[in-house]
Amino acid sequence: MEDLIYQKKEKIRNINRVYWFISQNKFFTKKEISDSLGISFPTVTKIINLLAEKQIIIEKGYSENNTKRKAILYEYNPNSFYSIGIKLEVSSLSFILINLNGDEIKKTVIVKDFFNDENFVLYIIEELKSFLKGFQFKDLITGIGISVSGIVDNKNKILKIGTNFHLFEKDMKEIKNSFQLPIYLMNEANAGAIGEFFLNKTLNSQNIAFISIESGVGAGIVLDENLYKGHSSKAGEFGHFTVENNGRKCNCGNSGCLEMYCSNRALIKEFEEKFNLSNLSFVEIFSKGLADTEKGKEIFEKYTDYLALGIRNILFLLDLDKVIIGGLIANYNKYIEKSLKQKVFNNIFFKEENILEFSKYGDFSNLIGAAFLPFNDLFINLVTKMAK
Ligand SMILES: [Zn+2]
Repeated sequence: MEDLIYQKKEKIRNINRVYWFISQNKFFTKKEISDSLGISFPTVTKIINLLAEKQIIIEKGYSENNTKRKAILYEYNPNSFYSIGIKLEVSSLSFILINLNGDEIKKTVIVKDFFNDENFVLYIIEELKSFLKGFQFKDLITGIGISVSGIVDNKNKILKIGTNFHLFEKDMKEIKNSFQLPIYLMNEANAGAIGEFFLNKTLNSQNIAFISIESGVGAGIVLDENLYKGHSSKAGEFGHFTVENNGRKCNCGNSGCLEMYCSNRALIKEFEEKFNLSNLSFVEIFSKGLADTEKGKEIFEKYTDYLALGIRNILFLLDLDKVIIGGLIANYNKYIEKSLKQKVFNNIFFKEENILEFSKYGDFSNLIGAAFLPFNDLFINLVTKMAK
């Protein structure tokens, strides 16, 4: 049995490596792949045939270097498939259309309040229809990946617990029916962890927490290179770590949860209260210079106290080699990085400050991570075909 699993893993790894090679080199022959990856020629041929069948690669004549026997030259075709990513937040809805390479074809962000909005599914469908208007290759779209802040049941396509939305047990299958495309639901932080993997090509870590700070706070946890979801997909509910006994009341029923102090909403609220403002946006905290004032610095001091407490606890539990903070705050890391690192690495167990990083992609990684989900199935199909 273990042998079987290993073989499958080996096949996945080979397909991944070949795919990685072709997406980097654009033009290639089978021999070049075999030589540079050390994968046997018959295996490479098998993979290449499968990719060619799906039009992921196209024959482009013959290689000029090879004088003895002409070798077929192939070209990578990233526009063979497309995918849609959706990010549903309490205060916004984002769409992205990407090709197989992850290149952005189109993107849009709609600002809207979804709190308690029972009709959010219908709204998504209507907006997605207009987003796709004019796109010529709709039949090449493989599916729709959806990142939601909350607990999702992907099998039954249900948003189970959307604490921040105050939405529970909401069926999202209508999206699948409307577009006749498979849909994939994923918690926002987990989608962010996947996006980070794809975008951050230099990421060499095996054990990672991707901390997503949005209107809620969550953590996508990767252990031994596998996304860890837990018994009922509730792993990584980092935002509900208790950081203050008898603290602020949270929508989850507890008090003193981390996201009541560190989410974007909590931070905005704190600034509004201390500066006597209303309708402040997250970006305005910085663009209006509020973050640079003495009062602003005090707010961030408290913010990093709580965030550091949470990160320390994750490190003590999982001994990770990388913790990546994503979300809009990552774009303003200079306001918190130094003090956060001092507070996280103030103990004798964890000293390497480079464990902690800020995402280079701000609040984009979960959107693109969602868009990559349908491609995953495409590759699983290839592996299944290869095993036959
Ligand atoms: Zn809570």
